[in-house]
Amino acid sequence: MSDAATGASPAMAQWFAIKAKHEDALLFFRMGDFYELFFADAQAASAALDIALTARGQHQGQPIPMCGVPVSQAEMYLARLIRRGFRVAIVEQLEDPAAAKARGAKGPLKRDVVRLVTPGTLTEEALLEAGRANFLAAIVPYGPQLGIAWADISTGLFETEATDAAGLPAILGRLDPAEIVADAGIELGPFELRRVGTQRLAMSTPATPEAAKRELAEKFGAASLDAFGDFSPAEALSAATVLAYITATQMGAMPRLSHPSSAGVAGQLAMDAATRASLELLAARGGNEAGSLLGAVKRTVSPAGARLLAGWISAPLNRLDTLLDRQAAWLALRDTGMAEPVRMVLRGAPDMARALGRIALGRASPRDLASIRAALDIATRLAPLLPRGPRLLNAATAALNPAPDLLETLQHALAEPAPLKLEDGGVIAHGYDGELDAERALRDDTRRIIAEFQTELAQRYGVASLKIRHHAQLGYVLEAPATAVESLRGHPELLLRQGMANGARFTHPELSALDQRITEAAFRAAAREKLVFNWLIKQALAAAQPLAACAEALALVDVLQSAAHLAGSGRYCCPELSDDEDFRIEAGRHPVVEAALPPGVSFIPNGCDLSTTQRLMLLTGPNMAGKSTFLRQNALLVVLAQAGLPVPAAAMRLGLVDRLFSRVGAADDLASGRSTFMVEMIETAAILHQAGPKSFVIVDEIGRGTGTRDGLAIAQAVLESLHNNNRCRAIFATHFHELYLLAEALPRLKPHTMRVKEFRGEVVFMHEVIEGAAQKSWGVHVARLAGVPEAVAKRAETLLKSAEKATLAAAPLPLFATLPPAENAADNALSATLAALDPDAMTPREALEALYKLRAEA
Ligand code: ADP
Repeated sequence: MSDAATGASPAMAQWFAIKAKHEDALLFFRMGDFYELFFADAQAASAALDIALTARGQHQGQPIPMCGVPVSQAEMYLARLIRRGFRVAIVEQLEDPAAAKARGAKGPLKRDVVRLVTPGTLTEEALLEAGRANFLAAIVPYGPQLGIAWADISTGLFETEATDAAGLPAILGRLDPAEIVADAGIELGPFELRRVGTQRLAMSTPATPEAAKRELAEKFGAASLDAFGDFSPAEALSAATVLAYITATQMGAMPRLSHPSSAGVAGQLAMDAATRASLELLAARGGNEAGSLLGAVKRTVSPAGARLLAGWISAPLNRLDTLLDRQAAWLALRDTGMAEPVRMVLRGAPDMARALGRIALGRASPRDLASIRAALDIATRLAPLLPRGPRLLNAATAALNPAPDLLETLQHALAEPAPLKLEDGGVIAHGYDGELDAERALRDDTRRIIAEFQTELAQRYGVASLKIRHHAQLGYVLEAPATAVESLRGHPELLLRQGMANGARFTHPELSALDQRITEAAFRAAAREKLVFNWLIKQALAAAQPLAACAEALALVDVLQSAAHLAGSGRYCCPELSDDEDFRIEAGRHPVVEAALPPGVSFIPNGCDLSTTQRLMLLTGPNMAGKSTFLRQNALLVVLAQAGLPVPAAAMRLGLVDRLFSRVGAADDLASGRSTFMVEMIETAAILHQAGPKSFVIVDEIGRGTGTRDGLAIAQAVLESLHNNNRCRAIFATHFHELYLLAEALPRLKPHTMRVKEFRGEVVFMHEVIEGAAQKSWGVHVARLAGVPEAVAKRAETLLKSAEKATLAAAPLPLFATLPPAENAADNALSATLAALDPDAMTPREALEALYKLRAEA
C-alpha cells in the first residue's frame, strides 16, 4: 500500500488499490446509483463538469474531496470529460449488494475496472460524432520504417500502412486519430496531445514481427496473416499494438473488428500535411465542417454515408479503374433518375455499423437492435431501386439483403418503438414469446386482482376509504384513515405496522401472498425478457459479417446518391479522367467561396489550361483580385475528381495527379519557432524535391517572406526549376509582376493575370483570369487616382519601366548575374531603390512620398 493510502478505510483502500493501476485516468467509482470521484479526481472532474465538490469522511485527518454523477446520466458527463481530454476508468460493483449481504460478507463490495473510456475507444452514440470516423492509431518503429495501424472500434474498420518518419505527418493529417499509441521517441507534431502513454497500461504486445503476425492470424482465424495481404514487419507490430491497447482498455472484451488490411500509399494521391491544411478538405481553419470542401459537396443523408464521403475526400486516389467504377455508379443513378427515390429511402438510415460495434462489445441496448431492424428494412427496400450494370451498384445490391430471417425475427420480436434500456421492460413485442406473455399476464393480472381485493377489503371491514398501497420497506399495505384505525385493530389478521399523522398502515396475510406472486411474476417476466433479448443479440452476432457488409453498402449507396444529386443539379460535371498528363478545366468554380458569396453576387468561373505546351501558369495581379481563390479552386477540383466525385465546372479533363502540393496562405498560420520565411523555404524544398511530371503544384507568393531582391531571385529560380526539372503542372502566383518576362526564356510558362477594371474612378476586381501580365503601373495608377500630378505619375512610370528591365534580365541565367552594367553609380542606386518598392503594398500617400524621395535623390 502506498503512503497516500496509509490508514484508509476499507472502501478507500479499495479505491487506492485500483487507482494505483490507473493513475492517468479518473476513477468513476460505482457506489449504488452514483459514480463517485475522490481526491484529485474529484477536484479535476468537479471543475471540468461544473458540479459541486463536497467531502466524504476523512483520510489522514483531512476531509476527502468528493463529487458524483448519477449512473443514469453518466454518458453525458463522460462525453464532456473525454472531450476535455480526460480518460476515465469505470469501476463497477462486481457483486449484488443483496447477495453479498446474504452470504454474510464483510467489508466493501467487490469492485474493479470494467472498462477504460478513452478518446480512441468510444462506442456510445452520445460520445461519438456521427459523421466522423473515430480512430485509435498505434505507431511502432521497426528498422528505418514506421508501422501505423488504426481501428475504429465503433464500426470495425482496421487498417495498416508503412511509412518513414517523413511520411508520418501526411498520414496523421489524413486520419486525424482521436488517440495515438506511440512511444515518446516518435514525433507527433500537432497531434502531440493525442498521444497516450502506454507504460502504465498492462499491455502485452508481441516482441517480434513474427510473433505479431502469428497473433494477428490467430485472432482473425487465418493460418497466416498473408491471407489478408502483404504486411511489413512494422505494420504487423503496429496492428498487434492496436489490438493490445483495445484489450487493455476493454478489459478483455473484444469489439467486432474486420481483419487488418494494408492501406498502402500505392494508388493514392499523395498530399503532405501542409497541403491538407491549406486546402481545408474536411474542416475549415476553425475546425468546423462548414466552410470546408466536405461541407460544400456533402449531400449524404445518413451518418455512415457522411463518414464514407469524408473518407473519400481525405484520401483521393490515383487509380483510374477504381475512379471510373465510382463515376459509373453515380452516373447510372443520375441518368436513370433513381438518385431521388434512393435518397428518400435512405434518409435517416440508422448507423448499423456502430450498433453492431456495441453489440459485439456486449453493450447493446434495445435501440441497437432497433437500428439493425430499421437498417435492414431500408436495405431491402433499397435493393430493387438500384440500377444494375456498374460494378459498385451490383456489389451493393448483392450486399443489401444480408439476413432476411433476422429482419423477420426482429420485426416480430422487438417492440416498436424499442425502449432505451432493457431494464425499462417492454422490449419484446407482445405475441412473440408465449412464456413471456404468460408471465406478463400474471404480473398484470395480479395488479387487477389487487384493485379488486381493495374493493373487497373495504367492504369486508366497512371502511370505504381503505387503500392498498405499495411501500418500499413493507411491501403491499392497507392504509386506513385515523377514524378507522380503532375498529381495524380489532381484527387479528390485520397487523398494525406503522402509524401515520392521519391514519395507519396494516399488513394482511392474503395481501402478503399476493405481493409475493406479483414480485415473482414481474421478476420472471423480466428474466424471460432478458433471455429473449440475449437470444436476439446472438442472432445478430451470428450475422455480423453480412450485416457489416450491408452497412458498408448502405453507406456507399448514400455517397453515390450524394454525388448523383450534385451532378444532377447541372452545376457539377463528371470529369474525364485519363492516365496522361492532361489538365483542362472549363469554367471551374471554387465550391466553398462560391457558397459563401452574399446573395446577388455571382461567382466568376475561370478556366485553367495546363496542357503540355503551357504546363506552368504564372499568375500576377493585385491583392484581393482572386488569385488564391483561383489557385485553391484548381487543387480542390483535382481532389474531387480523384475522389471519384463530380466537380464544379463546365468540363474537366484530367490526367491523374500522383502528388498534389498546395502552398497557399498556410505558412502564415503555422505556429512554430521557425520564421515564416524558413517555413516557406522548407515547403518549397519539399516541392522541388518531390514534384514530378504527373504532379500538380499551386504556390502563392514564394519569396514574400524576405527582402524584395532576395525574394524576386528565389521566385525566379523556383520557377525555372519547376519548368525545367520538375516539369509538373503548376500555377505560380506572385506579386513580382516582372517575372512575366521569363516567358521569353521558358517556353512552357504562360503569364496570366487577374483582370482589373477602372470604373468611374473606382478600381473593380473582375475575378477573371486572362492571358498576359498585370498592369505594371498599378501602384502608380493608385497614386494617380489619389490626385498625384500627372507629370509626377508619368515620370514614375518611366522610372519603373527602366528599373524592371534592369532588374530582370534574360532568364534562365541567375538573376543578378545578368544585370546589365549600370551606366553610372547613381542610376544603379536608383534602380535598386525602385526595385525595393512594392507599389501594390503602398498607400497612395506612401507612393507619393517615395516619389518625392526619388526625385530628391535623382
Ligand atoms: P487574392 O488572393 O488575390 O488576394 P482572394 O482569392 O483572397 O484574392 O479573393 C478575394 C475575395 O474575392 C474572395 O474572398 C472572394 O470573396 C472574392 N472572389 C475571389 N474570386 C472570385 C470569383 N471568381 N468570383 C467572385 N468572387 C471572387
